[in-house]
Amino acid sequence: MSSDMSPSDGLALDPPPAPEDLVPEQPAVERLTVRQKAALGSGRSFWITEPIGGAGPVLLTDGPHGVRRQTGAADHLGIAPSEPATCFPPAVGLAQSWDADLVERVGAALGAEARALGVDVLLGPGVNIKRDPRCGRNFEYYSEDPLLSGVLGAAWVRGLQRQGVGASVKHFAANNQEHERMRVSADIDERPLREIYLRAFERVVRIARPWTVMAAYNRLNGVPATQHRWLLTDVLREEWGFDGVVVSDWGAVGDRVAALEAGLDLQMPGGDPEPDALVVEAVTAGRVPPAVLDASTARILGLGRRAEAGRRLPANVDADAHHALAREAAGRSIVLLKNDGPILPLAAAGTIAVIGRFAAEPRFQGGGSSRINARRIDAPLEEIRALAGDAEVRYAPGFPVHGTTDTAAPDLRADAARVAAGSDVAVVFLGLDNAQESEGADREDIELPAAQVELLRAVATVQPRIAVVLTHGGVLRLRPIADLAPAIVDGALLGEAGGGAIADVLFGAINPSGRLAETVPIRLEDAPSYLNYPGENLHVRYGEGLFVGYRGYDARDLEVEFPFGHGLSYTTFAYDDLRVAADDDGLTVAVTVTNTGAVDGREIVQFYATGPHGIVRPPRELIAFTAVTLAAGAGSRVEMRIPRADLAFWETRARAWVVQGGEYVIAVAASSRDIRQEARVTVAGDPVRVPLTPDSSVAELMANPVGAQVLGKLINDRRAGPSAADTELGIDTTGAVAAMPVGRIRSVTGGHGLTRDQLEQLLHAANTTDQ
Ligand code: BGC
Repeated sequence: MSSDMSPSDGLALDPPPAPEDLVPEQPAVERLTVRQKAALGSGRSFWITEPIGGAGPVLLTDGPHGVRRQTGAADHLGIAPSEPATCFPPAVGLAQSWDADLVERVGAALGAEARALGVDVLLGPGVNIKRDPRCGRNFEYYSEDPLLSGVLGAAWVRGLQRQGVGASVKHFAANNQEHERMRVSADIDERPLREIYLRAFERVVRIARPWTVMAAYNRLNGVPATQHRWLLTDVLREEWGFDGVVVSDWGAVGDRVAALEAGLDLQMPGGDPEPDALVVEAVTAGRVPPAVLDASTARILGLGRRAEAGRRLPANVDADAHHALAREAAGRSIVLLKNDGPILPLAAAGTIAVIGRFAAEPRFQGGGSSRINARRIDAPLEEIRALAGDAEVRYAPGFPVHGTTDTAAPDLRADAARVAAGSDVAVVFLGLDNAQESEGADREDIELPAAQVELLRAVATVQPRIAVVLTHGGVLRLRPIADLAPAIVDGALLGEAGGGAIADVLFGAINPSGRLAETVPIRLEDAPSYLNYPGENLHVRYGEGLFVGYRGYDARDLEVEFPFGHGLSYTTFAYDDLRVAADDDGLTVAVTVTNTGAVDGREIVQFYATGPHGIVRPPRELIAFTAVTLAAGAGSRVEMRIPRADLAFWETRARAWVVQGGEYVIAVAASSRDIRQEARVTVAGDPVRVPLTPDSSVAELMANPVGAQVLGKLINDRRAGPSAADTELGIDTTGAVAAMPVGRIRSVTGGHGLTRDQLEQLLHAANTTDQ
């Protein structure tokens, strides 16, 4: 038995070095002219900063699942060529590993490749929440859940930066759709903004200390993210302690002076002298305090020093080892969605029909700025042949080139059916390609091309033993597939070595342990954001509030096709003896997990919390996860700490994170819908002091000791037992009084109660007395 448990935050690991630990001298901001300082705030060219002040130039490039180093023409759309690099699984795949240690190793390998290619900052990770299944860039993001996104994002940054290469956490913030991405305003209430959309960024910034954060294209509540002072300064720097550079997304700055004042340091790409001149003018005319420019300059010089120190580290890349890591990562990222029969693992005997273009011409990454020139690409078909042993493998493409078109291809379909009919089992590769989903555009639906469903139908009429392997960046409607195929393997996007990993899973060389990082709904219309997407007149209202992803499906008790956190194995696991204890710093949870099947396996253990009543809250929220590897028959006690902060909600009146006191139900689960055990624990609440005003209710004032003393006396003086209304008419006078704003008592009672002055004094005393 072995156990690879680790805290999901990896908090036990060393923090990455701060700039002051790397190079001791302070930057010489004061030796620079205003013009030089302004010039430092925008790039020299597409990927490079200005070499001023002895600190540059710094080379930034994409990211995030490989290094896209362009030495000729430059672009941010994935068009011009780039140097060969290892293509690791994009975030959509990697997230399905739920494995922070693995993601950290991938981050470190990316750091080594970046170093070797002279790259100082790799533009990733993308930790935006998958709000709507249609977002064309969901393949570049981890999850619909902020904890999973934040833990994996932090691990990626930690690995990368340990190699002396900086990260750029993006796209800050609320860049959750591609539709009108450069103009749309994401209109979000404060609680979902804090609890869902900022939370992953907060975790990454606090835990992994990224060198840079990338300000997004979109607006947040009407203000461009690049000019959002509250976002870039109040929250990012002052609350979370971010000490790095805020860089703009490429072309995201509309008003450089406003951006500088808001806290944006580096406008990219460079090349346009006009914004620099505007900064010089604003500072010289006294419209922007020189100290604002100086502080920003110091941060950019600090980035230069970090990069310089990083360049001193060795840059060794073992391409074969990185390819092997890409295969390992892909293997951990594959999710076995369904396995009736069981159809899988395949026997290395008989005849195996391999059907579908994606088997021979794999799609392994998404389109746009993250597109990597992969060093070496493993096709599933060849890898299946390599592992098939005595089995005969027959291939039929099944649908036209690239598989995108809905055009019927009767000949190809008939040929595929013929091959399937003469085989013992059919492995059918279906999916989406870049024409259907990529950066810059959203999808209109979540359907597979009709021609592919037709193909599967044709195969299913002649061959009942089918395993479908899916390739896609965004979530798909899988009901038609699940109706036809007894087994479904979700390959998402797996990077250059995905072909080998798929073969490993099909033949059981790897026992699948991946889990969905996003719910698969039965229909698009069930998605919580469905009615509030993509907005109109350049505003998209996040009307579903906190109820994003499984939080929303659960709250409406909707059936889903495959729940968040779902994934099967070739073995089974039992959960026993869940124990939960609370202390001042959080919770300790412990459970025994046993491998009850016949093969070794790895289980992702998920913990969810249901908070006490009293506030609006999703029925269940992920609060921790870890992995345990167990030999057949073996068991292990899994124990985790859950920091108190991970139970908190954003209290909008107090504008603070608050832990609600009361009874919590803690569940250990194999998915958000597969709860194995539950335990109850009482948690002490944080004191919340909400300022009392004339609009506060009688009940709210009564909850304050001073208020209770004065109001209680008043009420008691006036009350002589239950009124006729209470007893005879059934009117809840007590409830009505409790809900009344204290400032309205006199007008309701025709001049009884406290005068305006008395009330003011009472509120002042109530607000200032220690509690
Ligand atoms: C993307 C960023 C990317 C940048 C540079 C932008 O279009 O939104 O994610 O890092 O281009 O290529």
